[in-house]
Amino acid sequence: MDIKSAEFVISNTNVDKCPKDLIPEYAFIGRSNVGKSSLINMLVQRKSLAKTSGKPGKTQLINHFKINNSWFLVDLPGYGYAKVSKSVKSKFQKFIVEYFEKRKQLVSAFVLIDVRHSPQKVDVEFMQWLGEHGIPFSIIFTKADKLKPGAIKRNAENYLQKLTEDAWEEAPNHFITSSSSGAGRDDVLNYIENINNE
Ligand code: GDP
Repeated sequence: MDIKSAEFVISNTNVDKCPKDLIPEYAFIGRSNVGKSSLINMLVQRKSLAKTSGKPGKTQLINHFKINNSWFLVDLPGYGYAKVSKSVKSKFQKFIVEYFEKRKQLVSAFVLIDVRHSPQKVDVEFMQWLGEHGIPFSIIFTKADKLKPGAIKRNAENYLQKLTEDAWEEAPNHFITSSSSGAGRDDVLNYIENINNE
């Protein structure tokens, strides 16, 4: 997919105030520092689109970007706190939960995972929650340039293997990316394009 246009539309914490356009939507989410802003900017080839809302604390907002005038890329707040909580609902901000429960335009989520890490409770719980709510998602492994090819493959395989042991019968769809090298860009964009053209 060629990115012909990428524009910031709106930021908010209220899903009812998200854009009304009935165009396909893809949401990017992950723990803080996983490389989400870098990945979004790499995908759309804009230096700082993921920061252009220009408001302090924008990482705690639902940020809508319209791409090629035909689909929304949504930058969701980073999750994951030291805070111990029994329910997933209180662990993930209420408005994130509401976003996933209510947003009819959402086609798929992308859950970002640092390729160097082994499965962390908060990520696994979040993916489980998505699964229970019937929300399709793929994993995007980030920062692949930090490892050698053999280690990337091993880590990703171990991660998916562990997920299937703990929670899933089948490993989720996944991508391996690096915002530094641009690896995985075509894979993610072609995936989105193919769904949009279906
Ligand atoms: P966010 O908090 O998830 O939006 O993460 P950022 O995109 O701000 O990235 C967090 C840190 O990781 C920054 O220091 C980035 O420079 C670094 N980073 C992000 N993506 C990559 C990557 O693909 N490769 C490398 N080497 N560093 C990355």
